[in-house]
Amino acid sequence: METVFIGLGSNVGDRVDFCNRVVTLLSLLPHSRVASVSRLYETEPINDGANPGDGWFLNGVVQIETALPPKRLLSILREIERGLGRDQDDRSGPRTMDLDLLFYGDRTINEPDLTVPHPRLHRRRFVLAPLSEIAPLWTHPVSQRSMRQLLAEVEDRSEVRLFSPQPSIPDNPCTTPHPGPAS
Ligand code: ADP
Ligand code: MG
Repeated sequence: METVFIGLGSNVGDRVDFCNRVVTLLSLLPHSRVASVSRLYETEPINDGANPGDGWFLNGVVQIETALPPKRLLSILREIERGLGRDQDDRSGPRTMDLDLLFYGDRTINEPDLTVPHPRLHRRRFVLAPLSEIAPLWTHPVSQRSMRQLLAEVEDRSEVRLFSPQPSIPDNPCTTPHPGPAS
């Protein structure tokens, strides 16, 4: 089993519903289990290459433990994007759901359709904030910086704020409210 982090982002339609569905779908993957889910962050769209439009994003990160190989996982992520209505002909536009393979254990992969660690994650506050929430001590295998360090150092000043109200996602240890003392 490998520890894998998946970034999710949605900036059109019912963003909360899309994020909830992703967590549910990831919890159904074979040879895998969801280990942790970050809270959702509402983030300003930034135009680093793509053209996502004006809609603010909801972003989060899911940690899974999986025996699925990286390419297989990527194709499942693309399938989930498609199932949630992502326009595959104009991938750079507004997206119902963007799923990125951020880390696959400490592996580095450089193939035409798959680069791991994700090549832009260390420059994006909207990825580093949820990553450092659930895995502050996780180390980037190339720079050897922890997620907490990368977040403290990132130059990206675009706005990233906790989304409110947080949905309560089934199987989500991070967002399920504590039931409190029995009365
Ligand atoms: P972005 O997520 O950078 O805004 P896209 O989702 O449109 O842009 O880009 C997806 C493309 O990037 C896919 O064709 C996919 O093969 C490729 N890709 C390369 N590395 C990764 C990765 N680590 N995670 C997700 N997609 C990746
Ligand atoms: Mg993507």
